[in-house]
Amino acid sequence: MKRRAEVVVIGAGAIGLGVAYELARRGVTDVVVVDRQHLNFGATARNGGGVRAQWTTKANIELARESIRRFDVLSQELGHNLFWRQGGYLFVARTDTQVEALERAVRFQNANGVGTRLIDPDEARSIVPALDVDGCGIKAGSYNPRDATLFPWPLVWGYHEQCTRMGVEVQPFTTVTDIVTHPETREVKAVVTDKGRIDCSWVVNATGSWTNDIGRMVGIELPIRPERHEILVTEPLKPFLRCMLVDMTTGLYASQSSRGEIVGGVAEQRTAITMDWASTLPFLTHMARTLTFLVPRMRHVPVLRQWAGSYDMTPDAKPIVEAHEEVPGYVTVAGFSGHGIMISPVSCEVVADLVMGRTPRFDVATMSSRRFTPGGPDVEEETLVIG
Ligand SMILES: Cc1cc2nc3c(=O)[nH]c(=O)nc-3n(C[C@H](O)[C@H](O)[C@H](O)COP(=O)(O)OP(=O)(O)OC[C@H]3O[C@@H](n4cnc5c(N)ncnc54)[C@H](O)[C@@H]3O)c2cc1C
Repeated sequence: MKRRAEVVVIGAGAIGLGVAYELARRGVTDVVVVDRQHLNFGATARNGGGVRAQWTTKANIELARESIRRFDVLSQELGHNLFWRQGGYLFVARTDTQVEALERAVRFQNANGVGTRLIDPDEARSIVPALDVDGCGIKAGSYNPRDATLFPWPLVWGYHEQCTRMGVEVQPFTTVTDIVTHPETREVKAVVTDKGRIDCSWVVNATGSWTNDIGRMVGIELPIRPERHEILVTEPLKPFLRCMLVDMTTGLYASQSSRGEIVGGVAEQRTAITMDWASTLPFLTHMARTLTFLVPRMRHVPVLRQWAGSYDMTPDAKPIVEAHEEVPGYVTVAGFSGHGIMISPVSCEVVADLVMGRTPRFDVATMSSRRFTPGGPDVEEETLVIG
């Protein structure tokens, strides 16, 4: 392992490797990425692969809209098949309040360059013929055909391969135990790992749910908390679900993978703030009941596997992307609140620009943690988090 690098990135998920890739693409290749686990261990390996621009905040809409443009070309650029498929996202509303919320969201998305449309129950049925539109009392839906799904594992493999090819060093099974800063200026000097010390000018904290474990090493604690979420996959079926289906009442989401499996989760009755990733019977039962209510043909389909992971939640469900002035050289990119894959390409570009002293194409002031302090920028809370 290198003993000196310009940048050390902590965390080799979609965010950490994405940052390293964007730096390398811009010519900064003196970069080491460390992760205490194997590749595809954290939330990046455990998610539903959903990518949508149907959000209710300008920041999430813009990040997702532009990231979708990047995903359009990323399989080719990385040389790995990301199983990128634009089958759209269909949100279904079953109460008048939900219909009104969708109407507002569609107007806002249209005003921000996203072509979502409000649809009636018949159109919902035509998009998902297996949906029990009448039995479930579906009153309306919103549909954006450019929303998509992908398989996150090859995203990691692709980033890893391209980073390595460009000279970035990626070190799995390497745990960061401390960060050394200058005693007076607090400037970053080095990262200490269980495999030795790496002197550096920049540290990028891309550890998702573990952000504060690293942050505490430099005295920075952020409002990010790990929220447990479960998910499952069924046996493969013939293709019948082209879009990602989302139920506003239960927070259920489900899509069909290219191999035919149905992958999905559902909002749990009680959200647990914990890093306990055990699978539970209540989730399995609740998910099975909710899914078969909406899509009765899913009855009797065996579940192959269920697992859990964490959303790294912020109070407004938007990420924190910040070069902290009080610790020069220390950057946080975390708090993706259950939608980190879909906004990762552009978020990682922003970090690369910050490290290189360039002005990012997104307003970083609104992404900084200062929005949670008195006198900071206004908090625009996201209301369309699901799962
Ligand atoms: C069930 C579930 C469903 C989801 N569905 C979606 C979805 O459909 N679409 C979407 O966009 N997003 C979804 N997400 C969210 C998405 O998975 C995350 O936002 C994203 O993967 C975050 O990536 P990351 O690289 O920041 O974190 P992670 O992938 O968690 O990576 C963090 C890494 O930091 C490493 N690390 C921690 N501490 C240390 C240390 N001391 N030293 C070295 N390394 C360390 C960890 O080992 C880990 O590999 C979902 C998440 C879950 C759990």
